[in-house]
Amino acid sequence: MKQTIIGLALCAVLAWGVWQQRPEPVHNDVVHRELFALGTLIQISVAGHIEPAVMNQAQAALTDLETRWSVLGDGDLAQLNKTLQTQTSAPLPSTLQAGFAAARQLCLDSGGRFDPGVGDLVRLWGFDDEDHFRTTPPPADQLNAALQQRSSLCDSHIDPQTVVVDQVPARFDFGASAKGRAVDEVIALLQAAGIHNAIINAGGDIKVIGRRAQRAWRIGIRHPRPVDGRTMLASLQVHDGEAIFTSGDYERFFIDNGVRYHHILDPRTGLPAMGSQSATVLHSSAERADAAATALFVAGAQDAASVMQQMGVDSWLLVDANGRLHASDAMRARIPDLASQ
Ligand code: ADP
Ligand code: MG
Repeated sequence: MKQTIIGLALCAVLAWGVWQQRPEPVHNDVVHRELFALGTLIQISVAGHIEPAVMNQAQAALTDLETRWSVLGDGDLAQLNKTLQTQTSAPLPSTLQAGFAAARQLCLDSGGRFDPGVGDLVRLWGFDDEDHFRTTPPPADQLNAALQQRSSLCDSHIDPQTVVVDQVPARFDFGASAKGRAVDEVIALLQAAGIHNAIINAGGDIKVIGRRAQRAWRIGIRHPRPVDGRTMLASLQVHDGEAIFTSGDYERFFIDNGVRYHHILDPRTGLPAMGSQSATVLHSSAERADAAATALFVAGAQDAASVMQQMGVDSWLLVDANGRLHASDAMRARIPDLASQ
């Protein structure tokens, strides 16, 4: 009996080893790996050869980043948030220091439109966890209380080994920038392994290096309100080192009394930002593109140009609440048929 168990365990280990080493699926000389991490399906595609071990490293890095930055469970950020329920100061583990510092700068650059300090508001709206899903908005008194007592990351002090907030309880949520940071890290990991041509697609948010065969990588931007089977708003070529990220009101939402309440909150009101349907940003840093797409969504058409300038973004595209397109000249130059839409 004991031998059978050992034998079965050995088979399982061998099978795992074979699975880890098996060749990746190849389509048109592009090797793909798909996994679920950071709340979305992530596809890593490499043009040409890649050692399975490097793909495994990339996959492990994503899983590690997910644990580190999740508000749920007991990873680094979740533990820090626990401390900030009762203390205004918490040790910042080395794994979170660079991400916190970068996000604080992005918060400042966005004029507080991108602000991970919305953690308690996101939770109150039930957008932090599928188990918290709501079908009506939270009561106004609870919303006001959460708004009054929230600590902005812009105003928090990072030393860099400690974070100090204005008041407790405080809760940080990096749902609007951690995916971008993770994409930057995986691209850097691939480059360090000698990969020159790759694309990472994290639920429609993308970063590329190099090319696909002799052509540039080509990607589609999702239509926020698909009509007549038209699911793409536009498509464009994305060049070496560019990231393109979109924030939309269609990702997580509920409809109550005909009003769509979604997961991108205006940190100043505590309510879902109502001026936009989707916001797309192109930048060399995926982390900045991620945060800037959220900030652009919150800014809406009127403040779009000035906020994007403050955030160092040249190419952006916004679909406002009425479905009208607004785009920077640089983005229009990238998508010539945009003008006619
Ligand atoms: P997606 O997650 O669909 O890519 P975003 O990048 O805009 O969209 O991130 C939205 C997530 O970020 C929300 O689910 C929430 O956790 C958090 N969040 C919501 N509003 C803000 C905001 N104004 N600033 C920073 N984070 C936000
Ligand atoms: Mg974002």
